[in-house]
Amino acid sequence: MMSRQKFTPRADYRQQESQRVNESVSLSEKYRELKSLTVEFAHFSADGLSRNGQIKYMVNPSHAKSVFRLDCPNAECIRGDYDLSEALAKAVGARDATVTGELCCQGWLSKTTIDSIHCNNILKYKLNLEY
Ligand SMILES: [Zn+2]
Repeated sequence: MMSRQKFTPRADYRQQESQRVNESVSLSEKYRELKSLTVEFAHFSADGLSRNGQIKYMVNPSHAKSVFRLDCPNAECIRGDYDLSEALAKAVGARDATVTGELCCQGWLSKTTIDSIHCNNILKYKLNLEY
């Protein structure tokens, strides 16, 4: 396993989160009615101006996990990232075909700003669901 000699809040958090993802059931186990899912998203800086390319991909519900998260593009971000699990649960619950929304990264901007400056990167997403 990883050595823990150094204080690495970023790596520790990512490791915890990936464990949480791995331990969750697959999307198709959690949402039997969900046949396909497409996720489109783009990252914006806190001021909403600069954009980091738009990404679109198909998710295979039998392989993807029900804890559904996307990494924050800020390479220094501590304890941030985006969790779309709740948005997904709501969408499936309401049998929505399309859901759009945005999330603000609640992490810290960097390890030198822990407890003072939030990352605040913005994720704008669109989920397309088929049942
Ligand atoms: Zn962040």
